[in-house]
This record gives sequence, structure tokens and C-alpha cells, in this order.
Amino acid sequence: MIQTLAYLVKFRDWQCLGIGAAAGLLLALGVLHMTVADPAFALTAAGLLALGVGTVLGMAVVFSYCALRVIRKLSEQNIRRDFALNNMAQGLCMFDGQHRLVVWNKNYETMYGVGSMIRRGCSIGDLLMARHALGTLPRDPKVYETELRAALGRGEIFTVDVEMPDGRIIAVINQPTSEGGWVATHEDITERKRAERELDNTRAFLDSIVENVPSPIIVKDASALTYLLVNRAAEEYLGISRATMLGKTPLDVMPKISADEIMAEDRKLVDCGEISFRGEHGVQTPGNGTRIVTSTRLPIKNAAGEPKYIISVVDDVTERKRSEQRIAHLAHHDQMTDLPNRVAFNECIDATIDLAAIANESFGVLCIDLDRFKAVNDVFGHAVGDSLLREVARRLEQVCQGAFVARVGGDEFTIITPTAQQPRAAEALAERLAAAFEEDITIDSHQMRVGLTIGVAIYPQDGADAATLVANADAALFRAKSEARGSIRFFEMAMDQQLREKRALQQDLRKAVEQNELALHYMPQADMDGRITGFEALARWHHPRHGLVPPDVFIPLAEESGIIGALGEWVLRTACHEAASWPNKLHIAVNLSPVQFQHGDLPSLVHQVLLDTGLSPARLELEITEGVLIGDFTGAVAMLRRLKNMGVRVAMDDFGTGYSSLSYLQSFPFDKIKIDRAFVANLSHSQQSATIIRAVIALSRGLNMPVVAEGVETEAQRAFLAAEGCDAIQGYLVGRPMPIEDYAKLVGRKPAHVSLVARG
Ligand code: C2E
Ligand code: MG
Ligand code: MG
Repeated sequence: MIQTLAYLVKFRDWQCLGIGAAAGLLLALGVLHMTVADPAFALTAAGLLALGVGTVLGMAVVFSYCALRVIRKLSEQNIRRDFALNNMAQGLCMFDGQHRLVVWNKNYETMYGVGSMIRRGCSIGDLLMARHALGTLPRDPKVYETELRAALGRGEIFTVDVEMPDGRIIAVINQPTSEGGWVATHEDITERKRAERELDNTRAFLDSIVENVPSPIIVKDASALTYLLVNRAAEEYLGISRATMLGKTPLDVMPKISADEIMAEDRKLVDCGEISFRGEHGVQTPGNGTRIVTSTRLPIKNAAGEPKYIISVVDDVTERKRSEQRIAHLAHHDQMTDLPNRVAFNECIDATIDLAAIANESFGVLCIDLDRFKAVNDVFGHAVGDSLLREVARRLEQVCQGAFVARVGGDEFTIITPTAQQPRAAEALAERLAAAFEEDITIDSHQMRVGLTIGVAIYPQDGADAATLVANADAALFRAKSEARGSIRFFEMAMDQQLREKRALQQDLRKAVEQNELALHYMPQADMDGRITGFEALARWHHPRHGLVPPDVFIPLAEESGIIGALGEWVLRTACHEAASWPNKLHIAVNLSPVQFQHGDLPSLVHQVLLDTGLSPARLELEITEGVLIGDFTGAVAMLRRLKNMGVRVAMDDFGTGYSSLSYLQSFPFDKIKIDRAFVANLSHSQQSATIIRAVIALSRGLNMPVVAEGVETEAQRAFLAAEGCDAIQGYLVGRPMPIEDYAKLVGRKPAHVSLVARG
């Protein structure tokens, strides 16, 4: 009966209960009607009886009926359970308190391939052994079972991810049941794990990219403004480790001034939600000083469209800025003195003209040349020369105060005065400058005095544009130098005229060289007995309007304008060609300009000319002055050596006029020293000249270098030189510079024949 009631409670079978009750009531009424006469009693007794009997009978009916229905319901439940079990995505098995298998599903069988051997009541140990044998339990079954039992014994869930030999990963969850057994679910999580691994890999990949990006990247929480991510470049940029930053706000880690700025920018970004770029600005970092950076901020928004993170990407341009500044400084400054250079001067003069033109003001340009600088360089060496230039720059700047000082060449400086009353202000400045150089300068315990020669031009009267103004200040300097070293000259119109004439002459010279209008005259050289040993080739220019222009005028013009390259080659080629045609194998001397050593490969040119003309190198003598060795001394000596190695001879010309440095004579084995004609000319009235000539002859004898005296015009001069032991002479006494036709006999040609050749 209890079972019946339990059934009714469980299944709530009201239909069955109703039928049972009705059947019991009818049955009881029927029995009463047959056995009791008094209907009232019968009704009472019958009611009670009927209730009892009816209930018993009803219950009996219900019980039997219930039993039938329970069987039906249970089998329905079994079918549903099996259906549910076998349609689970996971494998499932259930063990009782004795660790015996009670229930399992198809998925479990196929998952581990145990379909043929699995049976109800088998122990967990047997099942694990069977799986191990099938290769679907890649662990020691005993150890596994021990661990499982231990966990279940503690009432804990035992989970394990089993990696199968075929690559599948099965997640097993063993959940203890109240009866002492457990339910195990087995889920194939291969795909999920693969996706997780892929996700992990992707995350690691992205992390390593962010970490290795050379730009500082910083991520902050958009609401708390705390640091969430700081990459390596950001650590270096800020000079602190990320460990000290993460979780903190800029106020906690950055210097106050920068922190305030950063937080303000961050808040602005959060408010507007738009990407923002901040151009170059300074940031005080906690451990890396002040940096110049640009920064880009971008918000990462949540699903609601509100900023969740702030990503800041920083471009640290400090080094680039510094090197740009260095380059800009180098481009505008002279390395030796650190004064502005010619580029800076050109920019400054343009700007000053613009300002002066607007304000209707006047200013001066001073071109300054250092006197005796070359001598200092020569006597004390280049290191002292460099120190002198630095000291000069310092003094100029000290005196100028407000004026713009630039170094525009070796010992050339220019000054742009401030706009003021001119020419008075420029004159006062020039005088102050000259006065500043009246005192000796001491460098490396060497005392020296260098003066300034100054040319001045005034804007606007001496030139309304930079080029004219500078050219006129230069013209004034040129005039000052030619008049008196240490003087100050202001530009005058007449100088401009001279400058113009000079430029015109330069143009004419260029044309003359191009059109082969120059000529060579030949001046004989003789030994002390009067025997002609060779000729010096001297360039001649017959200008169509100005007549004969002396080489002392046109050679410097050619040197200034670069025409000397072509001119020098023409002289060398013509002289060698001429000498090669002489029957008498006399030598030929050719003058070389220092400029020819500075541009182009002179030894190669000489070599080529000798090849082209067929002149023997031993017959060629190259005359150089000390100017060749000033400047790039090492380079010049190297070239001279190459020339000498060809078999060509090298003579030191005009000795005694320049610096006559002994070191020059020592530095190269010259084949000849030519005493300048000024000493010979002064012999008759200057004892000093005689002394110098004696000294030079003695010196050259000591160095084993023959001496030639130039400018010998009289027999008395020749006699003096012969008595002093001079080796050779050149001068009007021997012969004047003439066309070679005039020396036809000396070179071994018949005069008539010679003229024909010369004309041809
Ligand atoms: P230099 O090389 O010292 O040439 C000697 C100069 O002294 C020549 O002057 C010559 O005419 C002059 N001279 C020689 N003996 C006497 C004399 O007894 N009395 C007088 N009054 N003068 C004498 P020139 O031809 O006027 O040349 C002057 C300078 O021009 C040369 O001096 C040389 O430095 C340069 N020069 C001439 N031709 C060339 C050339 O083709 N190339 C280069 N680079 N320079 C040249
Ligand atoms: Mg000469
Ligand atoms: Mg000479």
C-alpha cells in the first residue's frame, strides 16, 4: 500500500486514484444493499463498511493497476535515459560504491574502443587495464586508479586531461556520488584545446611584437589612467622598469610637470574619444632626462563605445633633433673657430639688407684680412697657426659685441655691423678692431703680432644687394692691402671701376687661352762661363686693346679665376713640344703655379705631355715657388716626388722673397735654387743683398743644390756671383725673354728654317 501511495505521489496518477475510489464505493453499496434491511442503518453501516471495503478493494485495484503502470513508466524512463545517455556529447560511465561499472554510454565505448569488452559490473581496475591494452589510456592504469580513488575518497572531484596517442585530448571529470560511487564524464576537447593553444600562440606573438616594437608603447586604463602595459622601448625611453609603473598613474611615476600634461591629454582623449597627435614637445622622464618626442594617443572602446584603454605611441626624436642641430651648426659654422661660416654670413647679410631696406637704415660690411698669418703658419707650424686663428676669432667677437662675425676663408673674416649711423659706426668698429690687435698674442709660449687690414662697404650707398656690397668691401680690402698692411679703407667708386676692369680682363684672358692667343718667350740660362745650358719658358699675352699684359698681372688673374689650369697645361705642352724639336739638347724650364698642385693630377699631366711631345724627362725642369708647399704640404711633396721619380728636375724659384724657410729646402731634394732677381738688382747699393746672396750660396752648397742667380744684368753682378761660387746665371746679360726664333742658333737651328717652322 505504501508502495502504491509512493507511486501515486511520484507519478501523481489522479486518474488511477479516481477509478479505484469509485470502484470501491460501488462495490460497498452493492454489498450493503444485499445484506442490510433497515435502509437508515444500512446507510450508516453501509457507509462505513463501504468506505472500508471500498478502500481496501479500491486499493487492491489501484495497486494492481499501479504495478502495471509502474512497469510501463519505468521502461519508458529507461528508454529515455538510454536515449539521453547515448545522445550525450560526452562519454559517460557510472560506478557504484564497490567501484563497479553500473552505467555507460555508447560515446564512452567508441571514445576508447572498449565496446567489445565492456560489461556491467566490471571493476574500474579492469576497465583501465583494458583501455591501457587498447592504447587508449596513455598512463599507468594502477597509478591512475590510485590517484582517482584517493581523490574520490576525500570526496573531491577528480579531473584529468588525457592526451591520447592519436592526438585527441579528453577531459575527464569524476564526480563522487552519495552512494560512494562516482559518475565520470569524458569530453573530447581536442578542438577546444587547439583553439586555446592558437589563441595563446597569437597572444604570445602579439606580446612579442609589442615588446619588440622599437617605439615606446604605453597602454593605460581609460577611467583610472593607470598603466596596464609598458613595452621595452617605453622602459628605455622613460628610464624606469615597467614593474614600477604598472598599476600606477603618471602622477605616481612621472615628474609633476610632465605628469600633469600627460593626464590632461589623456582626459581630453577620454572626453572626445578621438585619436590625437601631439607634435614635438619636451617630456621630463623619471630616469632619462628631458626627451623631445611626438606622441599619438588612441582610444580602444568597449561595446558601449566608451574608451576602455588609452594606447600611447611615442616617437622619441631627441637624438635626431640633436644630430639635426649638430648638422645645422656644422653647416653654418667654421669647425676651427666655431664662428659662423660663409653660408651663415650669406644668410645674415640677406636678412640684414631686408630689415635695413624696410627700416630705411644703414649698416657696414667689413672684410678683414690677417696680416702675417702665412708667416706664422710657416715659422711656427700649422698647430700654432690654428690656435692663432681661434684667438683672432675670440678677439674679434669680444670687440664686435652685437655685430655678426664670420670666418669666410683661411685668414679672412667678415663682419656685418648693427644698423646705425654710417659710416661713423663702421669706422669706430674698424678702429677698435685694429687696436685690439696691437698687442702681442702669445700661443704655446710663442709671441707674435698679427695685424688686421680692413676694407669697408656701407649699405645702401656702396651696394643695395649682398653681392655688390661684399664685392665692394673686398675691393676696399684689396686696395688697403696694396697700399699698406694694417690699414683701413672705405670703398670708393674708383675701386669699383678697377674691379670691373679686373673682371673684364679676366674674361679676355679666358678667351685668349681658349683661342690660343698666348705666346711663349724663352729666356736663356748660362753657366758661369757663359755657355747656354737651357731656356726658361715665360708666358706672354698680347691684349688686342691693352697691348702686352705682364705675367705678374695675368698669372694672378688666371690663378684667381681657375684659368691657370688650362693656361699652365698650354705652357707646359707648348714648351715641351718646342724643346723636343731642338737639335741641341738644352733643358727647358717651365713655371708652375701653386694652384696647379691643388687641382687635378699634375704628375699625370706632365707624364702625358712628355709622352705626347717625346721630350726626354731629363730635359724638363719645373720651377715652383714656396707657395706650392704652403697649405697641403704633404700632398705637394708627394706630387713633387712623383715628378722627380719620372726623371724631371725641380727648381725652387724666387728664393729669398717668400718665407725662405729652411724646412722647405730640407723637405725635398730640389735640383736647383733660383735666387730672386731683387737681390741681384740691389747688389750694387745694398750690403744686405750681398750678404743674403752669400748665405744662400753657402746654404745650397751645404745641401748640395746648385744655385742660379736671376736678373743678372751687368758684368759686375756676374763677377760677384762667380767669386761667391754661384753655379749659373739668368738675366738680360745672358739674354732677354724672346721668341724662340731669336735663339734659333743657340738651339741648333738655321735661322731661316727656324722661322718657317715657327710660322708653321
Ligand atoms: P720668374 O719665373 O721668376 O721669371 C723670371 C722673371 O724675371 C721674368 O719676368 C723675367 O723676364 C724676369 N727677368 C729675368 N732676368 C731679368 C733681368 O735681368 N732684368 C729684369 N728686369 N727682369 C729679368 P716675367 O717674364 O715678367 O715673369 C714674371 C713672373 O711671371 C715669372 O717669374 C713667373 O713667376 C711668372 N710667369 C711667367 N710665365 C709663367 C708661366 O708660364 N706660368 C706661371 N705659373 N708663371 C709664369
Ligand atoms: Mg721662373
Ligand atoms: Mg724667378
